[in-house]
Amino acid sequence: MSLGELKRRRLALTGIALAAALLPRRHLERMPLLCPVRLLSRYPCPTCGMTRSWHSVARLDPVRALRDHPFGPAVLAAISVGAWSPSGAEVIATRAARLPVRLQVATVAGWLGWWGWRLAVTHRLTRTAGLTAKEGTQTGSSLAF
Ligand SMILES: [Zn+2]
Repeated sequence: MSLGELKRRRLALTGIALAAALLPRRHLERMPLLCPVRLLSRYPCPTCGMTRSWHSVARLDPVRALRDHPFGPAVLAAISVGAWSPSGAEVIATRAARLPVRLQVATVAGWLGWWGWRLAVTHRLTRTAGLTAKEGTQTGSSLAF
Protein backbone atom coordinates (compact mmCIF):
# COMPACT_ATOMS: atom_id res chain seq x y z
CA MET A 1 0.00 0.00 0.00
CA SER A 2 1.37 3.38 -0.97
CA LEU A 3 1.76 6.19 1.51
CA GLY A 4 -0.79 8.24 -0.41
CA GLU A 5 -3.36 5.48 -0.18
CA LEU A 6 -2.69 5.09 3.53
CA LYS A 7 -3.19 8.82 4.04
CA ARG A 8 -6.47 8.68 2.10
CA ARG A 9 -7.62 5.79 4.30
CA ARG A 10 -6.75 7.67 7.45
CA LEU A 11 -8.51 10.79 6.21
CA ALA A 12 -11.60 8.76 5.26
CA LEU A 13 -11.64 7.03 8.65
CA THR A 14 -11.36 10.35 10.46
CA GLY A 15 -14.13 11.83 8.33
CA ILE A 16 -16.43 8.88 8.95
CA ALA A 17 -15.78 9.07 12.70
CA LEU A 18 -16.49 12.80 12.79
CA ALA A 19 -19.64 12.44 10.71
CA ALA A 20 -20.83 9.62 12.97
CA ALA A 21 -20.17 11.68 16.07
CA LEU A 22 -22.16 14.58 14.70
CA LEU A 23 -25.14 12.52 13.54
CA PRO A 24 -27.93 12.74 16.13
CA ARG A 25 -29.02 9.36 17.49
CA ARG A 26 -32.61 9.87 16.46
CA HIS A 27 -31.54 9.96 12.80
CA LEU A 28 -29.71 6.68 13.22
CA GLU A 29 -32.76 5.10 14.85
CA ARG A 30 -35.01 6.20 11.96
CA MET A 31 -32.86 4.70 9.24
CA PRO A 32 -34.45 1.81 7.36
CA LEU A 33 -33.37 -1.71 8.22
CA LEU A 34 -30.50 -2.83 6.03
CA CYS A 35 -29.78 -6.23 7.57
CA PRO A 36 -30.94 -8.98 5.19
CA VAL A 37 -31.32 -11.47 8.05
CA ARG A 38 -33.60 -9.17 9.98
CA LEU A 39 -35.55 -8.21 6.85
CA LEU A 40 -36.18 -11.88 6.03
CA SER A 41 -36.61 -13.36 9.48
CA ARG A 42 -37.55 -10.35 11.64
CA TYR A 43 -34.78 -11.43 14.02
CA PRO A 44 -31.38 -9.78 14.46
CA CYS A 45 -28.22 -11.31 13.06
CA PRO A 46 -25.05 -11.62 15.19
CA THR A 47 -23.81 -8.23 13.96
CA CYS A 48 -27.02 -6.22 14.27
CA GLY A 49 -26.35 -3.26 16.53
CA MET A 50 -22.78 -2.70 15.37
CA THR A 51 -23.62 0.58 13.64
CA ARG A 52 -25.30 1.93 16.75
CA SER A 53 -22.44 0.68 18.90
CA TRP A 54 -19.88 2.41 16.68
CA HIS A 55 -22.00 5.55 16.73
CA SER A 56 -21.93 5.45 20.53
CA VAL A 57 -18.16 5.00 20.47
CA ALA A 58 -17.85 8.02 18.17
CA ARG A 59 -19.96 10.00 20.62
CA LEU A 60 -17.70 8.88 23.47
CA ASP A 61 -20.43 6.87 25.21
CA PRO A 62 -18.76 3.52 25.99
CA VAL A 63 -21.57 2.24 28.20
CA ARG A 64 -24.13 2.70 25.48
CA ALA A 65 -21.71 1.28 22.93
CA LEU A 66 -21.45 -1.95 24.92
CA ARG A 67 -25.20 -2.03 25.45
CA ASP A 68 -25.79 -1.60 21.71
CA HIS A 69 -23.45 -4.47 20.91
CA PRO A 70 -20.98 -5.87 23.45
CA PHE A 71 -18.46 -6.73 20.74
CA GLY A 72 -18.95 -3.48 18.80
CA PRO A 73 -16.14 -1.45 20.37
CA ALA A 74 -13.62 -4.29 19.96
CA VAL A 75 -14.57 -4.85 16.32
CA LEU A 76 -14.38 -1.12 15.64
CA ALA A 77 -10.96 -0.99 17.27
CA ALA A 78 -9.73 -3.85 15.09
CA ILE A 79 -11.11 -2.25 11.92
CA SER A 80 -9.67 1.12 12.88
CA VAL A 81 -6.23 -0.33 13.52
CA GLY A 82 -6.39 -2.05 10.15
CA ALA A 83 -7.36 1.15 8.37
CA TRP A 84 -4.97 3.34 10.30
CA SER A 85 -1.98 1.03 10.33
CA PRO A 86 -2.10 -2.14 8.20
CA SER A 87 1.18 -3.36 9.71
CA GLY A 88 -0.28 -2.86 13.18
CA ALA A 89 -3.29 -4.91 12.14
CA GLU A 90 -1.01 -7.73 11.05
CA VAL A 91 0.70 -7.69 14.43
CA ILE A 92 -2.65 -7.82 16.23
CA ALA A 93 -3.92 -10.61 13.98
CA THR A 94 -0.76 -12.61 14.58
CA ARG A 95 -1.04 -12.16 18.34
CA ALA A 96 -4.75 -13.04 18.27
CA ALA A 97 -3.97 -16.24 16.36
CA ARG A 98 -1.47 -17.16 19.07
CA LEU A 99 -4.01 -16.77 21.88
CA PRO A 100 -4.92 -20.03 23.60
CA VAL A 101 -7.53 -21.95 21.66
CA ARG A 102 -9.74 -22.01 24.76
CA LEU A 103 -9.83 -18.21 24.78
CA GLN A 104 -10.60 -18.05 21.07
CA VAL A 105 -13.41 -20.58 21.48
CA ALA A 106 -14.72 -18.74 24.56
CA THR A 107 -14.86 -15.49 22.59
CA VAL A 108 -16.85 -17.04 19.76
CA ALA A 109 -19.07 -18.87 22.25
CA GLY A 110 -19.63 -15.62 24.13
CA TRP A 111 -20.67 -13.83 20.98
CA LEU A 112 -22.98 -16.65 19.90
CA GLY A 113 -24.37 -16.98 23.43
CA TRP A 114 -25.12 -13.29 23.56
CA TRP A 115 -26.80 -13.55 20.14
CA GLY A 116 -28.90 -16.51 21.34
CA TRP A 117 -30.01 -14.53 24.37
CA ARG A 118 -30.86 -11.62 22.10
CA LEU A 119 -32.92 -13.87 19.82
CA ALA A 120 -34.82 -15.21 22.83
CA VAL A 121 -35.54 -11.71 24.14
CA THR A 122 -36.61 -10.50 20.71
CA HIS A 123 -38.88 -13.54 20.34
CA ARG A 124 -40.43 -12.97 23.76
CA LEU A 125 -40.99 -9.26 23.12
CA THR A 126 -42.51 -9.79 19.72
CA ARG A 127 -44.82 -12.53 21.05
CA THR A 128 -45.93 -10.96 24.32
CA ALA A 129 -46.08 -7.30 23.38
CA GLY A 130 -47.10 -7.71 19.75
CA LEU A 131 -44.15 -5.66 18.61
CA THR A 132 -42.37 -6.05 15.32
CA ALA A 133 -38.85 -7.43 15.55
CA LYS A 134 -37.44 -3.93 14.94
CA GLU A 135 -39.61 -2.43 17.67
CA GLY A 136 -38.88 -5.32 19.99
CA THR A 137 -35.16 -4.86 19.66
CA GLN A 138 -35.34 -1.11 20.12
CA THR A 139 -37.72 -0.99 23.07
CA GLY A 140 -36.31 -0.13 26.44
CA SER A 141 -32.80 1.08 27.08
CA SER A 142 -31.62 -2.21 28.58
CA LEU A 143 -32.86 -4.18 25.60
CA ALA A 144 -31.77 -1.88 22.82
CA PHE A 145 -29.88 -3.92 20.29
ZN1 LIG B 1 -28.07 -7.81 11.21
